[in-house]
Amino acid sequence: MRIFNYFILALLGLVSFMVGRTYLLLPSAAPVALIMPQAGEAETAHIAANLSRAITYKTISYGLDVAPDDAAFKGFHTFLATTYPNAHRVMEREIVSNYSLMYRWPAAEPKGKKPIALLAHMDVVPVPERGLGDWAHPPFAGVIDEAGKLWGRGALDDKGILISLMEAAERLARAGFQPDRDIFFLFGHDEELGGDKGAAVIAGLLKKRGIQLAWALDEGSAIAEGLIPGVKSPVALISLGEKGSVTLKFSAEDSGGHSSAPKAFTAASLAAKAGVAVTENPYPLVLDEHLEAMLLAIAPEMDFSKRLAIVNLWATRPLLAEQLAKSPTVGAFMHTTTAFTMMKSGTKTNILPQYGEALVNYRIHPRDSVASVTERARNIVDDERIMITNMGGGREATAMSSVSGKGYRLIAETIREQFGDIPLAPTLTVQGTDARHYGSVADGTYRFMPFVVGPDTLGQIHGTNEHISVVALARQVDFFEALIRRATGEHAP
Ligand SMILES: [Zn+2]
Repeated sequence: MRIFNYFILALLGLVSFMVGRTYLLLPSAAPVALIMPQAGEAETAHIAANLSRAITYKTISYGLDVAPDDAAFKGFHTFLATTYPNAHRVMEREIVSNYSLMYRWPAAEPKGKKPIALLAHMDVVPVPERGLGDWAHPPFAGVIDEAGKLWGRGALDDKGILISLMEAAERLARAGFQPDRDIFFLFGHDEELGGDKGAAVIAGLLKKRGIQLAWALDEGSAIAEGLIPGVKSPVALISLGEKGSVTLKFSAEDSGGHSSAPKAFTAASLAAKAGVAVTENPYPLVLDEHLEAMLLAIAPEMDFSKRLAIVNLWATRPLLAEQLAKSPTVGAFMHTTTAFTMMKSGTKTNILPQYGEALVNYRIHPRDSVASVTERARNIVDDERIMITNMGGGREATAMSSVSGKGYRLIAETIREQFGDIPLAPTLTVQGTDARHYGSVADGTYRFMPFVVGPDTLGQIHGTNEHISVVALARQVDFFEALIRRATGEHAP
């Protein structure tokens, strides 16, 4: 009985400790609102007109086996040169692999500081013929409507960013700004196809020239609003790395025969069994330090019970990980995902197949690798009759850049200055970006786009009715101008 009393006492102590910690993260009185951009109406209209024109160049990436539209890409180059004369006066331009652009704004006086790089891509994904009718305005017309929305392919991904970078450079050059270190503006032409001719070649050139960047910033994550259940405030997410991917083929061969006299297995059943085995042995969910930082950043916006769980992760971690992973989108951040996507076997219902295959697509978390994924699959399947083939080599995940790196700090400070005191947290990008090519030539690579992504924005990227408000566009220019001043101005650290 006595032991039981002690137990109750200890439990009460524990509960008050957990609740006490919860009050450390008090919610703000109201959701934080975003600060309005600096640009006046005339300047905002001017910036919007430039993006509108940029969208009319059909710089489309159709596929690795389709040559880029020479006239569209070269036309786009000329458009940039004539639209941004001051930026072109202060920067050197190099054309890489015919269509990618490498601009260098040299330091006023070289002080030996490592350069920074601002990345964007000029190519866009195609608009499928059957989706055309669903667009409110034609995707390559660059229509600006009466509500102040600019419509077209690339408005968000990624011409809107490219144009904002050029607008910021133009504004700074016009004002006589002089950077204290080199700034690179690196614009790939084949990001949507993997960036092997653009970003990869540019990164190779930097390496060859012995240039190591302090940090690089690319697309990849943004300010999320209305995407995290229970969080009303916009949350700025800065991505530190991106997942890799690999597709494994599990195949089996068999002598075949007539279906009237089968063995206990067929080539089809063996392949299927392997696909099912890896699916039913998913990677463990890990609530790592980055996800923890994100949860802590948004905790003040959440209700008491959620705060209680987040602040006391030492006790709630496994349970919370399981809860969070109920959303597959959140689960994707917590482990290497396993998706059994394709199968092939058999020719006729009464013939035992001589061959069967199952294809499983993995999206690799930075803590795993193509080799470790393959090895783990081999151990799970554990069947000599199954051959495991790595399709196309796969793509490794990038390393995670540091949250204590200078680049992260500067980006975070600029976000707070330009958007207000919103929660800010590190994250992981689950798609590929050009930034992954710069891992070996930059001390840190970060991914952040200074716009707000809501529930309807996600469907627009690579989808239908891609658009941006002209106010948001003007805000992007402010952001990049502020970031450049902060990172390379007189008082830069
Ligand atoms: Zn993109």
